[in-house]
Amino acid sequence: MAATRPISRNAPSLTLQNTPLLSADCSDFPFAKPQTVALETSTPGFVPSRTLSSYFDALFAAHGPQHWWPGRTRFEIIVGAILTQNTSWTNVERAIHNLRDARMLSTQAVRRVRSTRLAQLLRPSGYFRQKTKTLKAFVNFLYSSYAGSLGRLFATPTAVLRHQLLALRGIGPETADSILLYAGKHPVFVVDAYTRRILQRHGQVHSKIAYDEIGKMFESSLPADHQLFNEFHALIVHVGKHFCRKTNPACSHCPLNPFLPVPLERGATGDFLRDESAVTSHRSPVTLP
Ligand code: SF4
Repeated sequence: MAATRPISRNAPSLTLQNTPLLSADCSDFPFAKPQTVALETSTPGFVPSRTLSSYFDALFAAHGPQHWWPGRTRFEIIVGAILTQNTSWTNVERAIHNLRDARMLSTQAVRRVRSTRLAQLLRPSGYFRQKTKTLKAFVNFLYSSYAGSLGRLFATPTAVLRHQLLALRGIGPETADSILLYAGKHPVFVVDAYTRRILQRHGQVHSKIAYDEIGKMFESSLPADHQLFNEFHALIVHVGKHFCRKTNPACSHCPLNPFLPVPLERGATGDFLRDESAVTSHRSPVTLP
């Protein structure tokens, strides 16, 4: 994949070189100095496009291209998107390894194989009976609606195909969007728990915001560029895994540190760490319901 360019040409140049990094994790959160960038005041549920593009620029400057999605073919990406629900990627890799060894990484093979055999191969991915049904449902849909052609499937307009995918057993919005973006190169934004957590911790959304609302924020604020969305989601996952953990987030080393709303007052950190929804503990310009 070609390197993705910075998208906010007029945004402040944000790199780790000019970002003041602090010496410890969130124990020094109250002293974080996010003032290298003037945050825009926003209404929760709507993140200004400049904010999102600045997030992207900071992440890309810090971590570079992530080369997603790990998969050799479009069908393997689809399989991975289905299997990754509620499990680790390591477990998905084990199941894909089984499929590859059994020569089952093709639509024809999955269509023909008996469900009991497929379930055996998918077992390492967890919830394997349910995932067997989902994979079978996807392949049956592919053959009944698109004569088995992934080319024809992905030539379908995004909104139509998304609707069709969501109607399949076991495919929710995150899986549908992962298939559309990473296998089909459709410009849709994949929202995951990390996206939600980061925006919430930064006081940009409230805890009850719907999946589609977050997706629309990104899609309406940024250029409809599948490479950009590909890279942005992958970078968010990287930050979620390595910095924005559920507990004990490593804010002081995180490239998104400059975007924290304001320094937390001393003593508020505990609340922040105990309760992700406690964005009101920020002295944030946003008003939460
Ligand atoms: S994204 Fe980074 S700076 Fe923001 S809350 Fe998470 S760890 Fe802290």
